[in-house]
Amino acid sequence: MSLQLCLLIVSVIMSNLSALRVHIVGGGIAGLAVGYHLANIVERITIYDMNIGPGLSGASVVSAGLLHPITTSGKLMWRGNEAYSSARNLLNDVQLHNVSSKLFQDSQLYHTFYSISEYEKWQAAAKDLPEYIECCDVDQLDSTLSSINHKVEKPIVGSVRIKNACIVNPPLYLKCLYQSITRRNKNTNWVQYNVNDSNDYQKLRQSPDDIVVITAGPGVRQLWPHEDIENLQYAKGQNLIYSSDDLKISNGYISGEYIVPTVNNEFIFGASYEYSLDTLEKGPDCSEALKYLNRSPFYKNYLHDKDIGRVTSGIRVVPKRGHKGKLPIMLKHKKIPNVYCITGLGSRGLLYHSYLADLMVKAIISRDESVLDTAK
Ligand SMILES: Cc1cc2nc3c(=O)[nH]c(=O)nc-3n(C[C@H](O)[C@H](O)[C@H](O)COP(=O)(O)OP(=O)(O)OC[C@H]3O[C@@H](n4cnc5c(N)ncnc54)[C@H](O)[C@@H]3O)c2cc1C
Repeated sequence: MSLQLCLLIVSVIMSNLSALRVHIVGGGIAGLAVGYHLANIVERITIYDMNIGPGLSGASVVSAGLLHPITTSGKLMWRGNEAYSSARNLLNDVQLHNVSSKLFQDSQLYHTFYSISEYEKWQAAAKDLPEYIECCDVDQLDSTLSSINHKVEKPIVGSVRIKNACIVNPPLYLKCLYQSITRRNKNTNWVQYNVNDSNDYQKLRQSPDDIVVITAGPGVRQLWPHEDIENLQYAKGQNLIYSSDDLKISNGYISGEYIVPTVNNEFIFGASYEYSLDTLEKGPDCSEALKYLNRSPFYKNYLHDKDIGRVTSGIRVVPKRGHKGKLPIMLKHKKIPNVYCITGLGSRGLLYHSYLADLMVKAIISRDESVLDTAK
């Protein structure tokens, strides 16, 4: 094919795309990342969310903000390198325009162990992934933890450091990410609207060529055909928020549960995994959260006698575990044209949001759905 013909095809595609209108249902990190990656390409972006603005609802807001590509067993997550660098690039770009406040901070993240056998597994992991994991001594932990550690019943016996990790300030990031979309695309709007079902979102379109992307977190249950998502689970996650006056830490700690410092002189301890459908939609409930969290060594060792400041909760959409782990899901509607969905980000929304959004935009532009197949 001649160069002129190629250029002609590209310019026809681009002029068609620049007339595209995109309707995104759900303004959490997934929806906003889709908006960001489309902003320079399409004519108009409308984000529909049940809340009045970004950074106010959904799992994205209550996330502890932990971003790294390592699994709970010390392996690299599916497409871990690509996803991590996509997330970091997006964070850096959004940060560039928000010099007055820090959206994230590079952090050492310590994985602590209470059993020697578990620690030994991670020592092997450090050999396999030296760019991400290194062993460290228990006395390298924050001084408050080290000083309490030798007094407790079940002390930390070993620790590894996840290097190059990052702690994000989720509510601020969501607000600034939305601003980045509006900066790149002047025809961007946030509309407070609770979308009921697929008939409802089809009515939002002005033409069947308009693209609809469903990124509604647990709202996917009403909005997507049941047979495509029947393997998803919904897990309520609750965080207990404490004042940093009670425990001085400057790093993040994980060990099943996490302890993560925030910018507001607080730290987050969480999160519960509550699968009961009876309490899923109910808001924060400290006693329910404690039924799960009081078993954690973090709680038993350091927190049992501290005052809980407040509780936050959100719902994760958890994909079924396959042979490559719990993979996030991207779908194209089988019956309604130009309708797409990102779901199943589980506990790794920050790792995957930008990478999946970028892939989805590539699928939309190229009209090649095979890009969406995470099993590949
Ligand atoms: C307690 C907790 C801690 C977590 N910690 C981390 C962490 O440290 N690191 C990490 O990477 N991940 C973490 N996660 C997971 C992460 O938060 C999620 O994977 C991610 O936020 C999912 O993003 P989302 O945009 O798909 O969904 P959501 O953030 O849930 O956003 C969905 C949006 O859609 C809107 N919506 C829903 N239904 C409708 C409807 N019918 N009409 C209109 N709008 C609708 C909601 O208002 C919401 O704004 C945590 C999750 C929880 C619950």
